[in-house]
Amino acid sequence: MKKKTLDENDFDIFVIGGGVNGAGILRDAAGRGYKCGLADMGDFGSATSSSSTKLFHGGLRYLESYQFRLVKESLRERDLLLNLMPHISWPVKFILPHNKNLRPYWILRLGLYIYDLLAGSTKLSKSVGINLRNNTVGSCLDKSFTRGLAYTDCWVEDSRLVLLNILDAEKKGAKAFSYSRVTNVQRKNGYWLVSIKSKDRSFEVKTRVLINTMGPWVNSLSQLEKNKNNQVMVRLIKGSHIVVRKLFNHNSAYIFQGKDGRIIFSIPYENDFTLIGTTEVEHKMGNEVKCSDEEKDYLCNFASGYFQRKLTKKDIVWDYSGVRALYENKNVEARNASRDYSFQLEEKKGAVLLIVYGGKITTYRKLAEKAVSKITALLNLKRKEWTATKHLPGGGFKLEDKEKLIVGILKKYKFLNRNWAERLFKTFGTDVEKVLGKAKTKKDLGRNFGSDLTEREVLWYINQEHARCVEDLIWRRSKLGLRLSSKQIRDLSSYIKKLN
Ligand SMILES: Cc1cc2nc3c(=O)[nH]c(=O)nc-3n(C[C@H](O)[C@H](O)[C@H](O)COP(=O)(O)OP(=O)(O)OC[C@H]3O[C@@H](n4cnc5c(N)ncnc54)[C@H](O)[C@@H]3O)c2cc1C
Repeated sequence: MKKKTLDENDFDIFVIGGGVNGAGILRDAAGRGYKCGLADMGDFGSATSSSSTKLFHGGLRYLESYQFRLVKESLRERDLLLNLMPHISWPVKFILPHNKNLRPYWILRLGLYIYDLLAGSTKLSKSVGINLRNNTVGSCLDKSFTRGLAYTDCWVEDSRLVLLNILDAEKKGAKAFSYSRVTNVQRKNGYWLVSIKSKDRSFEVKTRVLINTMGPWVNSLSQLEKNKNNQVMVRLIKGSHIVVRKLFNHNSAYIFQGKDGRIIFSIPYENDFTLIGTTEVEHKMGNEVKCSDEEKDYLCNFASGYFQRKLTKKDIVWDYSGVRALYENKNVEARNASRDYSFQLEEKKGAVLLIVYGGKITTYRKLAEKAVSKITALLNLKRKEWTATKHLPGGGFKLEDKEKLIVGILKKYKFLNRNWAERLFKTFGTDVEKVLGKAKTKKDLGRNFGSDLTEREVLWYINQEHARCVEDLIWRRSKLGLRLSSKQIRDLSSYIKKLN
């Protein structure tokens, strides 16, 4: 690619789709010095990438379908990513309760042994067998579970992961447009012309390389381009989660096996809640992405088989659903379909197209690195890989220093209580002081919209983090939607509308 002065809307690389994969690619490419841009038709991360189980994990169950390469890469990435963002990610111990009706204990032990081996050298604890009779983690479970296994994976706040990649890419010169739908793409001589429509304007950008990270919509680019040859068969699988008031008083999570061969997780969530998921249901494009009554019943019944407390739909305080786009292979069950990713790269008349299929939250950085390196190689321009060692905004500290840093914030901002300081730190990390500034009292942060969501924080999300509407703010920048009342949400929404 010849270096030349580019027009404002003239890019080296343009990405369609601001989920985790698109955001990761944008950051990687911007850091390698490319002039790049991205458009998403909604809020960044508003589709699959904010609807996951929120784990950086190897995927224990993928061992059953012999996806060793994927598990190994994911486990290595898990450790690496934890270091790059210790504010939004942290280790979580998982308990795998066992009784005689489940897969034999020795198979689970062997699976975890392989999991540990594939992880290589890691700071996270190796798997161990546990007695559930004399352990706090056993006390909320049905009495038939007397023993189990424990292993460690990591939690990540998925929607903030996407956003932090976008923000860091912007710091490196990238342009990111949310609520901007790509409506047409045309291959010209040596470049692509991309038409974009947002609420108040329509515009075009030119780019030498076009990247399709449209997730479940991956095949709709061929319709925009009117090139049916660019379609591969993807299988769409909907997965839903439910959130209930907390079912146990400790920080470990559970992985439960079902009679149908599936597994579900029960994970401590936002201090006062438990997250339970997920289902796997074939999905048709165009159908609503929503947790159905059957899925709610399925998850409640599944979890009730393990906990002493029996759950019904009435216990659900929130639910969400997302759609995975997996390679089509009709001969395998949804739970065994590969979660791996792949690329399709082509160059015609000097215009390059890279299509990304599949992928996991856990592999997004590696996927982005490989995607950008493919382009770099194609363009005969060596630009170094860099994302393995550079932390995300707010994440420039060691995990073991987290507590010390939270205490430091409490000392500096004496009006904060512990929960508030912890919430802010898990959101902004070391950038929390940029948000709070010189505030000496709660009043200095302006209006309180409820649950310590202050005007200062709201304005930060809007002015610094692309939040446009109340949903962006309470479900993706934060999870305060779980705490605010309907009236508080309405008031916040009218406040935001007045600003626009
Ligand atoms: C239920 C569930 C649980 C999961 N749990 C985990 C987990 O715990 N750990 C893990 O590692 N992975 C997990 N995954 C997988 C992971 O969530 C996905 O692989 C990942 O989020 C996919 O990201 P993406 O960027 O490819 O797609 P998406 O996040 O769907 O992004 C695609 C984007 O393209 C945009 N778009 C589409 N068409 C257009 C257009 N015409 N113009 C502009 N923008 C457009 C959409 O708005 C969307 O934001 C889970 C997935 C599901 C469904």
